[in-house]
Amino acid sequence: MYDTIIVGAGPAGLTAGIYAARGALKVLIIERGGIGGQIATSWEIENYPGAPAESNGPGLTERMRAQCEEFGVEFSTRTYLSSRKTTQGFIVETDAGTLETQTMIMATGAEPKLIGCKGELELRGMGVSYCATCDANFFKGLKVAVIGGGDTALEEAMYLTKFAKEIIIIHRRDELRGAKILQQRIKENDQISLLLDSVVEEIKGNGLVESIVVKNVKTNELSEISLDGVFVFVGQKPNSEPFVGLLERDARDYLLTDDEMRTNIPGIFAAGDIRHKSLRQVVTATGDGAIAAVNVIKFIEELK
Ligand code: NAP
Repeated sequence: MYDTIIVGAGPAGLTAGIYAARGALKVLIIERGGIGGQIATSWEIENYPGAPAESNGPGLTERMRAQCEEFGVEFSTRTYLSSRKTTQGFIVETDAGTLETQTMIMATGAEPKLIGCKGELELRGMGVSYCATCDANFFKGLKVAVIGGGDTALEEAMYLTKFAKEIIIIHRRDELRGAKILQQRIKENDQISLLLDSVVEEIKGNGLVESIVVKNVKTNELSEISLDGVFVFVGQKPNSEPFVGLLERDARDYLLTDDEMRTNIPGIFAAGDIRHKSLRQVVTATGDGAIAAVNVIKFIEELK
């Protein structure tokens, strides 16, 4: 019987692990793939306070994992399937057997949707980015493309104007989806141009992004554009499917919690990008993880 099982080993789950284990709890973190979550694909991190200048995603999360182990957190590679309430706590079904725990912290994160074109995955973190707040600073004075026509794409394109010299918004239809006020700001900004009715067929580069091949969906004409970066904002998907029917979600499938990271089920908490919240960053994920773990400790104390 664990005191808490944390599902997900990104910054939220790992921070929850450190805080819960330092609170003398018996903690297991389960993770279906590698340690680190989305940040493991980031090639440089300069907005996490105190991180050394050369910080990268894998390095930062590896140090978080080592801290967890120092305090006795156990790790297991397995996939969470479901859980059910018992008088003692919860029975957790995974693809590698059943576990028992008093409490749980869901920290399964979210994933950016991909364009799915050739070169996208190969050049991810090498000029292909899914987060302007994280990576805009690396494109100072350079030329980038923003893919997508929703609010996120338009807002992030405006944000990128503080860094990049030139931004091309590439959208698959002849009309943007984002709010009219954002569309107006985009039109008035000299640094931003629009390429409508267009999809990215390929992202090219030898180690770093060098160009993209774009297809006009009306004429099927292909053209190649030289640039330094591609920011993809075609939607995000929270990893909340395993919790359907158990935990309350918002209209976009993010888990609903209160400020103390409590979900609708007493004893189940959620932390990080999986939550309904306004800013999804490492620093907010680690904050959530700490709050969730401290509330798990209080919850268990109150059961005694
Ligand atoms: P979104 O509204 O779903 O927009 C996604 C965009 O990506 C759409 O323009 C879509 O094209 C395009 N797209 C989807 N799949 C694509 C593909 N495979 N290839 C190329 N383009 C593709 O997502 P979002 O912009 O992340 O926003 C999510 C939600 O958050 C929305 O409800 C939005 O209003 C809200 N939001 C609000 C604010 C704000 O109020 N300040 C800020 C950010 C987000 P189509 O238009 O053709 O479907």
